[in-house]
Amino acid sequence: MRGGSIAVVGGSIAGCAAALAASRGGAGKVTVFERADAELRDRGVGIALHSDRYDELKDAGYVAPEMPWAPLTRRVWSVREGDAEHGRAVGEQPFPFRAYNWGSLWSELRHRVPEGVTYRSGAVVTDVDPDSDGVTLRLADGYEEHFDVVIGADGYRSVVREAMFPGAEAAYAGYIGWRGTSSDVDGLPLDGLAAHNIVFPGGHCMIYRIPDGAGGHRLNWVLYTAPPQTDALQPDLRTPTSLPPGRLNAELTARLRALVADNFPPYWAARVLRTPAETTFIQPIYDLEVPHYTSGRMVLVGDAASVARPHIGGGSVKALQDATALEAAWVAGDSWKEVLERYDTGRGAVGAAMVALARRMGSAQVENTPDWSAMEQPEFDAWWQDQNSGSDRRSGFGGHSLKAG
Ligand SMILES: Cc1cc2nc3c(=O)[nH]c(=O)nc-3n(C[C@H](O)[C@H](O)[C@H](O)COP(=O)(O)OP(=O)(O)OC[C@H]3O[C@@H](n4cnc5c(N)ncnc54)[C@H](O)[C@@H]3O)c2cc1C
Repeated sequence: MRGGSIAVVGGSIAGCAAALAASRGGAGKVTVFERADAELRDRGVGIALHSDRYDELKDAGYVAPEMPWAPLTRRVWSVREGDAEHGRAVGEQPFPFRAYNWGSLWSELRHRVPEGVTYRSGAVVTDVDPDSDGVTLRLADGYEEHFDVVIGADGYRSVVREAMFPGAEAAYAGYIGWRGTSSDVDGLPLDGLAAHNIVFPGGHCMIYRIPDGAGGHRLNWVLYTAPPQTDALQPDLRTPTSLPPGRLNAELTARLRALVADNFPPYWAARVLRTPAETTFIQPIYDLEVPHYTSGRMVLVGDAASVARPHIGGGSVKALQDATALEAAWVAGDSWKEVLERYDTGRGAVGAAMVALARRMGSAQVENTPDWSAMEQPEFDAWWQDQNSGSDRRSGFGGHSLKAG
């Protein structure tokens, strides 16, 4: 299918990758509408990509070796044990991941978007109106344009998804991710090559180093646990949102800090508690599935299509794979119908499998945590195996292989 006018709503990871896919697929004119008016690169959080998935995406031309990254080789799960500085390791596992800084991953993708693509910052899409031969987009500033195809890369609160499947919203998983980064990264155990999961009743915190984008490193952590039921934030959390530092209420922050002080081995408690408040924020955790990745002339990619809880470390991988699959469908299809059907068939099942695996992991690692303090390596291995063996018998941890579909 060649030519045509394509709009991409959202210019983050999935949006840049989708614009690249549409251009490579042969689209005539591609326009990206991104709500943020400043550059997105300041989101300094970490993203870990499984090495095997990275290799596939490199071969497909969506990621490149030049992007700064920090290698991770294994993951150590530790529990507090008395005053032992580093606690006790309850289990270790291979962890062949590449740690990225979200900002530099996005910048690199942004640079890959061909010059012929128009990237409009500060462009808020408010209305998505499909008809038989395309879709009209309306923006907050009154601008209006009709496109042959609209790609929704606008994240978990997608306006494109709302036009496709009204009411298909992200559902709050019942817990939050408290995230932080700091420059307090020197002298990490195991030469910084391990990710550390500090476990406690009702959750865990994953800690690893990421590139700082300027040749050095930063410490990156994310702690998952349920906020107190009485907290004033509870009603807010059920509505898809993210809470920047200013929205973090003092009571919730105080509770999270107390949880760290009481449950973390002293070495890791100090690292987390030294993180400056201005580099911490809270993301409620959500699940989202849609019946299809396409409807009429509308297409979903990345978090707009499905959101799997972050425990599987595969959200960005899925976004990039969605774009790769879209490009392949574009090249192979002879009509819009054929392109969109091919894409939907290929990606819908993968999205659903990732959401299901992430739910099992969220249940085991946050909602129904085991008695970690009683665990040794054999019990840990059995516990991990149990989460991974779904009905489809494919783990999908770190994202499914592109070849497996
Ligand atoms: C705590 C946590 C940890 C994670 N860790 C990892 C990890 O280690 N590895 C991994 O692979 N993934 C991870 N993920 C998942 C990953 O961050 C996402 O899956 C991935 O970034 C997909 O991004 P996206 O481009 O689809 O959506 P987003 O990054 O949300 O982008 C959507 C874009 O659309 C724009 N937009 C929205 N609405 C409009 C509108 N109406 N008009 C115009 N623009 C609009 C927004 O401004 C935004 O830029 C994690 C997620 C969380 C919450």
